[in-house]
Amino acid sequence: MDASHDSLRANVVQLRSRPTADVLIIGAGINGIATFRDLALQGVDVALVERGDFVSGASSASSHMIHGGIRYLENGEFRLVKESVTERNRLLRTAPHYVRPLETTIPIFSTLSGILSAPFRLLVTHGRGKPRERGAALIKMGLTMYDTFSRDGGHVPRHRFLGKKKALAELPAMNTDIKYTATYYDASMHDPERLALDVMHDGEVAGGDRARTANYLSAAGMNGSSVTLRDETTGEEFDFTARVVLNTSGPWTDITNAALGEQTGFMGGTKGSHIVLDHPELLEATRGREIFFEHSDGRIVLIYPLKGRVLVGTTDINADPAKPVVCTDEEVDYFIDLIGNVFPAIAVDRTHIVYSFSGIRPLPHHDDTAPGFVSRDYRIVQSDTLGVPMLSLVGGKWTTFRALAEHLANDTMQLLGRQGKVSTASLAIGGGKGFPADADARLRWVAEHADGRDSARVEALLERYGTRATEVLEATPETDAELAELPGYTAAELAHLAATEQVVHLDDLLLRRTSVAFVGGLTEDRLRVAASAIAPALGWDATREAAEVERTVELLRRSHRIDATAGGSFIAA
Ligand SMILES: Cc1cc2nc3c(=O)[nH]c(=O)nc-3n(C[C@H](O)[C@H](O)[C@H](O)COP(=O)(O)OP(=O)(O)OC[C@H]3O[C@@H](n4cnc5c(N)ncnc54)[C@H](O)[C@@H]3O)c2cc1C
Repeated sequence: MDASHDSLRANVVQLRSRPTADVLIIGAGINGIATFRDLALQGVDVALVERGDFVSGASSASSHMIHGGIRYLENGEFRLVKESVTERNRLLRTAPHYVRPLETTIPIFSTLSGILSAPFRLLVTHGRGKPRERGAALIKMGLTMYDTFSRDGGHVPRHRFLGKKKALAELPAMNTDIKYTATYYDASMHDPERLALDVMHDGEVAGGDRARTANYLSAAGMNGSSVTLRDETTGEEFDFTARVVLNTSGPWTDITNAALGEQTGFMGGTKGSHIVLDHPELLEATRGREIFFEHSDGRIVLIYPLKGRVLVGTTDINADPAKPVVCTDEEVDYFIDLIGNVFPAIAVDRTHIVYSFSGIRPLPHHDDTAPGFVSRDYRIVQSDTLGVPMLSLVGGKWTTFRALAEHLANDTMQLLGRQGKVSTASLAIGGGKGFPADADARLRWVAEHADGRDSARVEALLERYGTRATEVLEATPETDAELAELPGYTAAELAHLAATEQVVHLDDLLLRRTSVAFVGGLTEDRLRVAASAIAPALGWDATREAAEVERTVELLRRSHRIDATAGGSFIAA
């Protein structure tokens, strides 16, 4: 692959030409990114490096929920639930472009089950052992507690219970064996990758040339008390010195520590997969709600309408982070089975799958605790064996990223002998700044910014980028026409993303700068069109374009079981 353009990557050059900072953060998932933003806002000289693309680890494999984690109540994780609900309510205000209230319905098949087993697990077995089915009484108890935690924010309505008749009137396709439904609100995060990029952009803007980031740049080892960084696109290495090093490499935290010369056993990640279905009947059956319930094995699973598709997940299986993960046939069978439990009359098979993804949760090491009951809370561990203070992050959900980052940034500031001065608690994120609060305000925003353009297009950009849509409008000509092969996108818009968001490979664009891969239908033709749209911005020649298409075909096949050479279909076993 032609590396001439890669070797000139401006962000890497910036780091290489001044290879020092107060803080080096290793790993740009949401937690590394949020900590980067926090430190940049405090005026700290900070560098963030990511061995792959930004947000390509656990943070790109989530169930897309910003949630209080109602089920953590039965593990007794009250601190985490309270923090999660508080952060959820904050995100509804600070990132309204990407985080929205999500009506969630739990179908309930029994009245009392689980009422004894859950407190028993909480008080006696501390989460070990198999859960029993959660009945209505237990769910009612949990939701009442959840409402109490939510009270401060007042951002989402309280829960409600319905008996069978009313429940089936609301959701007629649901299994008629249900006894009740419980409906409550959490929040959905429909574009996690874009939300994370917005957080990072805010950090870059706040810190200027003292807040540097680079993807495809890994922490590969130590040289004295400097960290050796390797440009993964060229193989070139250079040493970088920082006063404090933060290891936020998620499920790979122990592996990164080992590369830096320290053996740790902090992590015990579990794998979770999802499938995405193009299934209008199932989509309609959800009535726009997330259906959140307990499958026969006691695992909490979800059927979730998103971007005109249905997201189904997830599993929880002990996993080795050194090995790649992919959604297996057993998992697909499990998902199809769980849909049948809730919507028995709706036929679902593998031909409906348009995308699948898997990731490893960065959970703490656990012994005999069942994967679903391992703590989702986080902790920060300091070590000084490298000749430079290092803080390793162990755990951390998407939902709590801001609070976690504040905590990690405060600990870092203490090591630097400084005090934080800026709070992120109510700071609007990226395109959430000035985001119109209701339908009328949206219409006004569109009218003000249309400037002769089709208002539907301006509205689509507002939906996609929040108020940062103005940057896309400025960068693209008024006559910009949608690409027939990539509906909703124009060549100039894709080129703008490539030029301004450190796109290195075609898959960065299709999987993480846009939702093109998620909604499915990625054919080789579409890959070619996308590659040629961004080629001029990235200085790609025809050979590089072809190589990028080939790389993406292979990645889709290997990691997402999608065959772009066969119309973007799901690959059977
Ligand atoms: C299946 C599943 C469903 C989930 N659902 C939800 C949900 O609905 N809601 C929720 O709140 N949370 C959810 N989570 C949890 C959440 O996604 C993660 O806990 C969170 O994203 C972790 O972010 P992170 O930044 O700590 O780790 P990551 O996102 O994994 O980031 C770590 C980064 O470090 C990089 N890295 C590793 N080694 C190096 C190195 N040597 N040098 C440089 N970079 C390196 C990796 O490439 C990676 O990008 C889910 C997780 C999974 C897997």
